Amino acid sequence: MRILVTGGAGFIGSALVRHLVGEVGAEVLTVDKLTYAGNLASLKVIENAPNHRFARIDICDRAALDEAIASFRPTRIMHLAAESHVDRSITGAADFITTNINGTFTLLEAARAYWSTLPAAEMQEFRFLHVSTDEVYGSLGPDGFFREDTPYDPSSPYSASKAASDHLAIAWHRTYGLPVVVSNCSNNYGPYHFPEKLIPLIILNALDGKPLPVYGDGSNVRDWLYVEDHARALNLIASRGRLGEKYNVGGRNERSNIDVVRRICRTLDAVRPAAAPREQLITFVTDRPGHDHRYAIDASKLETELGWRAEQTFETGIERTIAWYLENDWWWGPLRSGVYGGERLGVLPAAAARTGA
Ligand code: NAD
Repeated sequence: MRILVTGGAGFIGSALVRHLVGEVGAEVLTVDKLTYAGNLASLKVIENAPNHRFARIDICDRAALDEAIASFRPTRIMHLAAESHVDRSITGAADFITTNINGTFTLLEAARAYWSTLPAAEMQEFRFLHVSTDEVYGSLGPDGFFREDTPYDPSSPYSASKAASDHLAIAWHRTYGLPVVVSNCSNNYGPYHFPEKLIPLIILNALDGKPLPVYGDGSNVRDWLYVEDHARALNLIASRGRLGEKYNVGGRNERSNIDVVRRICRTLDAVRPAAAPREQLITFVTDRPGHDHRYAIDASKLETELGWRAEQTFETGIERTIAWYLENDWWWGPLRSGVYGGERLGVLPAAAARTGA
């Protein structure tokens, strides 16, 4: 199996590449532009693996994609490259439109050109997995779950750009017969998570004794999935998912943001008691514009059709994650002191003025 993974230097992409190279034993070509979110240090554990290569490529660059695909001859493309942070999409959506929509279009066209030249048996075997988010479905009330047939209703520039890319991927299957499968996953957390996202930001601020920013009243609910459970799901969906179908991925681990933050504080207080109680660092800040209230995934299609189960509960996954951040400041230290120091992103000037923030 030769697998081309786009976005393989990012958070989920690197977990997938480590899984495919280290555990599955596939030949992997990681394709990544190395934006602020891409980091080759996340692939350090496999840097000497003979079955892994890296190519710095922008997925909007058709010629570079054609060349990489022609020389690697993938049996699968797993597409994770994206601009992924909602707050950054609020401040400036241009890169999200360029990479998530135009980049996906460019990659689909490069994949289609390559696939259409393959001998019949290889054509049959080829798969294109488009990796997406549950945020395309919009916001839930207190009840109910996102299913694969839930209508799309995205709220942020990020989720709207991902919704567009999902439609392109499915259209390339229906129109051109490209063997596409789509996955829509809930919020991930775990090792190598860029510290702009809630869980690593709270862990690192709590370790530094800095304020722990919680948007609004902290009641927004997310359905958390440990990233290595997601990586296994992606391999399964790419291997055995039905063509033209979507699969929701989620761990049945709904938690409000404030509960997540309190949990991190309690765990850190237990292992580093000198700075306890860290809950006193919690600071409620202006809510995110267009903040979806609740996400929750019904993953029964993936569970019953493909036999996937999340191995980590939120409790076991968050313990592992915190332990990883405590042991791996070589990875996050340079990011916190360089690319991103923890400042607030995604506040609109008008909203800031209204609230006095
Ligand atoms: P990430 O931001 O950590 O990583 C994205 C990677 O894509 C980075 O390595 C970056 O360098 C690369 N990239 C960005 N623009 C590129 C371009 N033009 N060409 C090539 N590479 C480019 O994101 P993530 O959290 O790992 O998410 C990966 C995928 O999974 C995304 O498609 C995202 O929408 C989806 N997803 C994320 C979550 C989540 O909770 N993080 C949940 C569900 C789905």
